[in-house]
Amino acid sequence: MENLRFKALEKLFDRQPVRFVGTDKKVSEYFGELTFGKEAMRDYLTPATYQRLVNSIDKGDPIDREIADEVAAALKTWALSKGVTHYTHWFHPLTGATAEKHDAFIVPVGYGRAIEVFKGDELIQQEPDASSFPSGGIRSTFEARGYTAWDPTSPAFIIDKTLCIPTIFISYTGEALDYKMPLLRALSALDKAATGVMKLFDPKTTHVQATLGWEQEYFLVDNALYSARPDLVLTGRTVFGHPSAKDQQLSDHYFGVIPSRVMEFMKEFEYEAHRLGIPVKTRHNEVAPNQFELAPVFEEVNLAVDHNQLVMLLLQKVARKHNMRVLLHEKPFARVNGSGKHCNWSMASDRGVNLLSPGKNANENFRFIAMIAIVLKAVEKHADLLRAAIASAGNDLRLGAHEAPPAIISAFVGNYLSEALDSIETTGEIPNDFKARLDHQISKIPQITRDNTDRNRTSPFAFTGNKFEFRAVGSSHNVASPMIALNAAVADQMNEFRTKVEAFMADGMEKDKAIFEVVKEYIISSKRIRFEGNSYSEEWVAEAARRGLSNLKNTPTALKAYVSPQTVELFEKNKILTERELKARFEIKLENYVKKVQIEARVMGDLAINHIIPIAIRYQNTLLENVKGLKEVIDPKTFTTIAKNQLQTIKNISEHISQIKSLVDEMVEQRKIANALETIEDQAEAYLNNVLPFFEQIRYHVDKLEMLVDDELWPLPKYRELLFSR
Ligand code: ADP
Ligand code: MG
Repeated sequence: MENLRFKALEKLFDRQPVRFVGTDKKVSEYFGELTFGKEAMRDYLTPATYQRLVNSIDKGDPIDREIADEVAAALKTWALSKGVTHYTHWFHPLTGATAEKHDAFIVPVGYGRAIEVFKGDELIQQEPDASSFPSGGIRSTFEARGYTAWDPTSPAFIIDKTLCIPTIFISYTGEALDYKMPLLRALSALDKAATGVMKLFDPKTTHVQATLGWEQEYFLVDNALYSARPDLVLTGRTVFGHPSAKDQQLSDHYFGVIPSRVMEFMKEFEYEAHRLGIPVKTRHNEVAPNQFELAPVFEEVNLAVDHNQLVMLLLQKVARKHNMRVLLHEKPFARVNGSGKHCNWSMASDRGVNLLSPGKNANENFRFIAMIAIVLKAVEKHADLLRAAIASAGNDLRLGAHEAPPAIISAFVGNYLSEALDSIETTGEIPNDFKARLDHQISKIPQITRDNTDRNRTSPFAFTGNKFEFRAVGSSHNVASPMIALNAAVADQMNEFRTKVEAFMADGMEKDKAIFEVVKEYIISSKRIRFEGNSYSEEWVAEAARRGLSNLKNTPTALKAYVSPQTVELFEKNKILTERELKARFEIKLENYVKKVQIEARVMGDLAINHIIPIAIRYQNTLLENVKGLKEVIDPKTFTTIAKNQLQTIKNISEHISQIKSLVDEMVEQRKIANALETIEDQAEAYLNNVLPFFEQIRYHVDKLEMLVDDELWPLPKYRELLFSR
């Protein structure tokens, strides 16, 4: 049997970049050509239908059957003109991935003929056989049927000659089985609530839209090396691997020259993304070797979420063409930075105002301060929910590992804004020179003070001039999850804010004074989550504990916030999710956690027993042969001195092997016990407390063996190969 690792390395030595033969066209000429956006809509719909569809998209007007029929016909004509053969409802089940089931347009009309048909009914609703999607017990108690229903606010698009129609996914009884439905509800709640508050400052406001600009981090690994690592293939991360002598300590990868093989991949990816109307704009090397990042221009949240889901698919698809694999896991490599997905978030009114942007006059700055206070208060109140919304087995390996924000939810606002908030608290006034100072803070001239930017980067929720950046989100996550939580929390806070202001006004208080009173109250009561220091430090952990902030370090503990009375009230009051739907989500996420840890444990056991130990024994036998040979030729008196090294290595190898064997046996035992537990909550606790702790221990011995065993025998591609081959 040949060593798989060497086979993979051989392939790698011959690798040439796959050239991307692009186009001479300007991006603006092909941007969005594969989406049924406003331009295509205008070309293919009657002006009246076009207007009604636009109203539905921009203002949420309902869509009737007639329109659906005309839109379906237009979609079909448009799609056929682009060579499309199939259509699918495209949705976000709670697996975190996207789902699709393709149907051809053709309908046989007898005597060897067929025509293409696509009706309004098929556009509006489909019934996928959905019994295998996670539903947390919702469906099993009723029926296995689930429906997908068209979401006109996100444009249909074409991938692989298939027309994809973004949809929500609900049960027969109307309960949400996906991320999109609660997201749309949260966004609509935010629209209403924020519009209500904005009317206090700008009475002409009629709509507020939440905006999202995500930053996607990922690793690239050569396809051959990837295929030789069963752990990467099955879990998305390496469960073993001794650190490379050099990894990121020289910081020579960050913003470095993009390797040419990767560049070809990026060019092709961007071309495809632009054709799909995804406004990707930024690309660069990240901190860890072979780690990269891309970011689009921000968009309305629902669209940005769909685009991120699409981007994750597209990255994988294009990487395959270039003989590479994309790793979206939060922590593919131990002791090397993991990957996150910063979510830049703000709100914009239909009057062109960014609600989190300071303004040009006193009234606008007053609005700005009020919005900041409301968001801080919402985050303070629902910190545990925000933490739960980003909890996953993968993210547990990253949060609090001194490279990513900790599991403690705090907010950074910067010096000047801090001073302003403190001044409101103590003197009851917005400082006079606030505007000038703020201008300085957010001016385009970069702040050079290194200290400041460094500290800023450690905060899980940081104000960055005209938006907040939620940085604790994991790279593989569907960002709908944190967006549902954040927008729901802020919507609720907006409502409470307005109610309080109106109550003061009803008591005869002047409007600005009333607003100021509530702003002040929020600033004071949310103060405990404001932290300007280094969030990665031990001091902060202690300080946060003193302040009574939660530090929910793992997924099973963090997820509990999904079903806390406070969360249930928040979601029910704002008609986003019912208690039953929340319980279902809680169970699904726990189940996902258990399964992920279970799979990793199995992969670890298999690799250790079937791949690592046999190789270690083989090398040990070589050493034993060598020692026997020495014994024959060497004077017995000096033998032990001369063979000392070999004997010690043989002993060390034996020890590691026997440790690995017994640890794996114990882990399997614990797995059996965990699997037999009745509830998913107990199983999750058992996996967390009794199975997971073996990972580090087993890994320790395997990684030691990697350093002892002959390099030529070692079966798994090593970290230096995975991280530095390109
Ligand atoms: P940086 O934060 O690195 O200085 P930018 O401020 O340009 O860079 O933006 C980073 C990300 O924030 C981008 O994805 C951008 O689209 C997004 N962003 C900028 N403004 C907003 C906004 N108002 N709402 C949401 N996202 C935004
Ligand atoms: Mg950023």
